[in-house]
Amino acid sequence: MSETIFGKIISGEIPTDFLYEDEHCVAIKDINPLAPVHVLVIPKKAIEKLSDAEPDDQALLGHLMLAAGKVAKQLGVDDAFRLIVNNGSGAGQTVFHLHLHILAGSTLSESRM
Ligand code: ADP
Repeated sequence: MSETIFGKIISGEIPTDFLYEDEHCVAIKDINPLAPVHVLVIPKKAIEKLSDAEPDDQALLGHLMLAAGKVAKQLGVDDAFRLIVNNGSGAGQTVFHLHLHILAGSTLSESRM
């Protein structure tokens, strides 16, 4: 798999502020926010898309969910946020390095998607 922009962000090649970082993932602000809070949780391991994850990735996938909860708490939106994973170009995925979108803020209740 060729390196994506998220690979470059994680390696530090593209300097980016991390809202959160641990051994397995980072969280960054989305460059093109679709909600007042729009944060991406990105595993350091480059998995192209969720459906490419293997049984060995089970702990990592759980870790990402827990990290998303922590980041939501850190940002004060843990009572109302949405998690989205776009899997494949047909679902709108544009960066082929698995990531979770955390969306929160005043516009959230207007859309079920
Ligand atoms: P979509 O572009 O349809 O949301 P993805 O689920 O693949 O598809 O999401 C990629 C996300 O990465 C987009 O929301 C985009 O705004 C964001 N993004 C792209 N480049 C950067 C960057 N350099 N820093 C932060 N976010 C970025």
